[in-house]
Amino acid sequence: MTDRAWLAGAMAQLRQEQARSADTHLLRLDLPAFPDIAFYLKDEASHPTGSLKHRLARSLFLYALCNGRLHRGQTIVDASSGSTAISEAWFARLLGLPFVAVMPAGTAPRKIADVRALGGVCDLVDDPATVHERARWHAERGACHLDQFGLAERATDWRGNNNIAESMLAQMAHEPDAEPTWVVCGAGTGGTSATIGRYLRYRGLQTQLCVADPAGSAFAAGWRTRDRAATASRGTVIEGIGRPRVEPGFVFEVVDRVIEVEDAHSIAGMHALEGLLGRRYGGSSGTNFIACLRLAATMRACGARGSIVGLLCDRGERYDETLYSPAWLRERGIAPPALPAELDDAVSAPTRTGATPSSCPSRIRRPRNLRT
Ligand SMILES: *Cc1c(COP(=O)(O)O)cnc(C)c1O
Repeated sequence: MTDRAWLAGAMAQLRQEQARSADTHLLRLDLPAFPDIAFYLKDEASHPTGSLKHRLARSLFLYALCNGRLHRGQTIVDASSGSTAISEAWFARLLGLPFVAVMPAGTAPRKIADVRALGGVCDLVDDPATVHERARWHAERGACHLDQFGLAERATDWRGNNNIAESMLAQMAHEPDAEPTWVVCGAGTGGTSATIGRYLRYRGLQTQLCVADPAGSAFAAGWRTRDRAATASRGTVIEGIGRPRVEPGFVFEVVDRVIEVEDAHSIAGMHALEGLLGRRYGGSSGTNFIACLRLAATMRACGARGSIVGLLCDRGERYDETLYSPAWLRERGIAPPALPAELDDAVSAPTRTGATPSSCPSRIRRPRNLRT
């Protein structure tokens, strides 16, 4: 079989997979504490491989194939904190190609087991900062480097093709506040935020994009001063986001705001989601949810109404032995999960708000006598 014939078969496999897959749900959440704000959560855990990386892995395979970089029988390699590796292992198996995941040794054991169950090989490195170098080492020996950190932002078709932004906005179409005030996502490769930010502009919407990041991360620091050389001032236990360096796929210009979230708050957010949705999601979903609540609290204080769309990034079962384990948190000296004090009421009883802060944008400030 010629390489082109093999390629045509691989493309057909990917098209068939896409046709078999359904879209992910957009869950609506109404919180009594925010009567004028509707929350929507895009459930990316419902992909066949359990995270938003299912979309990315499909795009990276398409990109490698269509650029003539991936050939019959070639080994595939990538550096990953786990979610991408699981999705890539799944697509590699679909195409009948060997797969090597370079992962930090501290990655949640469940994710490592998932990659192995899909036939992937895990190359575990002690220092998370060396994963890129190690992936390149494999590439020099003949593997095709899918390079999620280098290519996520350009491999994704941001104008359409059912990218995450097109999907969520189409699902919002019939809602009362169809044009969200905010979309909130995390940033690992930066691919999701780049795709959403570009698509909002492409569609001419006023929706603002907020990136929720672990406190002290490189992206949060770099975004403020547009410094691509920024590094993280501390580590995080939230996998998938909170990168040690500003990854090449972060597009600073399409992000309107960055909210930094303490790990203990992210974990509390993750538990709050379980209480509200009856299902477990991962740590970065908790980070996003805390940022959604912070934005909602600001909107409420300004008397604004509207909608906020957040992301549920991956399945919670992956973290049963880590983030969901009180003993694991204790061993690492992480404070017991607790919501930030100012959000204490957010997921429970309704409250009324005080004076309109002077920071409220005038277009959403309401006269006092219109308040209930
Ligand atoms: C990758 C990832 C993110 C961030 O998405 P990017 O598109 O890579 O920026 C958030 N949460 C989880 C669980 C992830 O795996």
